[in-house]
Amino acid sequence: MSLRHRILLLWSVAVAALLVLCSVLFTNLNHAQEDAAWVERTKDIVLAVSEVQSSLRNAETGQRGYLLTERATYLGSYEQAIAAAWDALDRADGLFQNPSQKVRSAALRELIRQKLFELNGTIQLAKKGDFAGARRIVFEDRGKVLMDQINHLVGEINAVQAELLTFSRNAAVAQNERVRHIVLFGGPLIGIGLMLLGLTTTRRIGRPLQTLLEGTHQLSKGNFEHRLPVERNDELGTLAKAFNTMAESQATSLRARERADQALQKSNAELHRHDEVLDLLRQLAQRLQSATNEREFGMAMQQFAPRIFPGRSGALYAHNNSRNLLVRLAQWGDTASSTEVEPEACWALRRGQPHIVTDEPDVRCDHVATHAEPYACLPLTAGGDMVGLLHLMGRLSEVDHEVASALVENVALALVNHRLRASLREQSIRDPLTGLFNRRYMEEALALEFARADRTGEPVGIIMADIDHFKRFNDTFGHDAGDALLRAVGQLFLKQFRHGDIACRYGGEELTVILPSIGLADLEARAELVLQAVRDLSIVHKGQALGRITISLGLAIRLDHVATPSVMLSTADAALLRAKQTGRDRFETAPALVAML
Ligand code: GH3
Ligand code: MG
Ligand code: MG
Repeated sequence: MSLRHRILLLWSVAVAALLVLCSVLFTNLNHAQEDAAWVERTKDIVLAVSEVQSSLRNAETGQRGYLLTERATYLGSYEQAIAAAWDALDRADGLFQNPSQKVRSAALRELIRQKLFELNGTIQLAKKGDFAGARRIVFEDRGKVLMDQINHLVGEINAVQAELLTFSRNAAVAQNERVRHIVLFGGPLIGIGLMLLGLTTTRRIGRPLQTLLEGTHQLSKGNFEHRLPVERNDELGTLAKAFNTMAESQATSLRARERADQALQKSNAELHRHDEVLDLLRQLAQRLQSATNEREFGMAMQQFAPRIFPGRSGALYAHNNSRNLLVRLAQWGDTASSTEVEPEACWALRRGQPHIVTDEPDVRCDHVATHAEPYACLPLTAGGDMVGLLHLMGRLSEVDHEVASALVENVALALVNHRLRASLREQSIRDPLTGLFNRRYMEEALALEFARADRTGEPVGIIMADIDHFKRFNDTFGHDAGDALLRAVGQLFLKQFRHGDIACRYGGEELTVILPSIGLADLEARAELVLQAVRDLSIVHKGQALGRITISLGLAIRLDHVATPSVMLSTADAALLRAKQTGRDRFETAPALVAML
């Protein structure tokens, strides 16, 4: 049943109950009024009937007075009494309602008529002068008998009227009692019933209203996921359904807005990220171009790669000089990579194109340690030449792939440039036959070392070396053998001297070594070691042993911070000459400088 019908029913029941109660009270009021009218009428009847009695008695008194005194004055009151008797009887007749009383009234009227006939008879006789005859009739007591009958009938009428009054009263009392019961029990009963009905209706309205209020409260707080239970089929159920539909549409539009916001944020972030990556690539390219060696190259890569590919491990490899191995220049991230990669161990290097392993089953490179994780190997190619390899762990998105391609291109170019520059530089400062620095470099280095020594106060040692009887090797085994010997001695010099020492080919078969920060004792000890190392050389050229090889050394040490490079070189050269003159395969130390010690 709908809520509206329920409330209508409640009010109908309430109004009907009130109407019933009012009608009962109204009926009872009517009864009370009727009862009062009964009492009034009974009183009037009793009065009228007793007036009839008294008027008849007065008429009889007037008759006796006239008959006894024979005075006509009594006739006046006689006539008045008779008129009053008839008048009272008429009034009484008008008041009777009960049929039996009406019959009695008619009988009374007949008796009164007879009584008046009797009285009138004696009066007429007396008027004719026969007072005695009239008095005799009176003495016959016929009038008394009639009067007794009248009195008896009046008594009966009064008694019946009293009985009727009592009956009516009793009925009224019973009615009152019923009404009292109705009001006493029915009133509270109707009240309690209405209250219960009201309570259940309020409860049935109140609880859903409370949940509806809670729902709107949640909605106002922005909780669009809140829903109301739809348990009923009435207006409140419809309201709950409407609320849920509204909340759902709100939630849907909110979700759509959130998705749009997220998409906008994402595309903003992507744009920002794109700019950031471009900037990083540009910065990295600048660093790579300015790197003077491959260590710096690797360092730049190690700093920038994790920023370009956040959270991703990887490594950069470059071909070694002999191009038979890829050496790791840099690595970043948590996953360790192998220090070297053989070209055959990488599918990207073998195929000359990126090898990208996703979640799908695919061949995996031997140099990748993990067996399940996706990864990518991108070869570094420049001018059709493979120069290195970029290795990245994890799955590459489309954007990652583009960035990686750009990076690979940049790095390959920078690497080739760097290597080209390095080889040009090497060519310009190195002697191609021995691998030692050339004379031009030596002169620059000497000036530089002297300047540095002047600052630090350290000495600088110089060794001038000359292969003994070199001309003979040329003459005996040929110029190639001479070259082979020169190359071997050059390599030996590269090995024999410390990292900071600078070994050069001064010209022909003469070599020079600059030894910064060295004392005389150390310089001579090193000279002795070199002499021995050369003696130990055994060179076989084209199947021919070149025989015993020795060199002579001239040592000079600069302590005064005054001598110029040319002075020092000629000092060392003079010492070398002395070594040659005093038998070769030995060293001489410049005497002037020794004297200065
Ligand atoms: P010593 O120094 O012991 O007095 O005798 P020597 O034979 O080494 O002396 P000399 O300086 O006369 O000989 C140097 C020779 O080295 C002359 C030159 O032909 C030869 N020579 C110079 N440069 C080269 C080179 O690049 N390759 C070869 N194979 N020989 C060279
Ligand atoms: Mg020479
Ligand atoms: Mg020589």
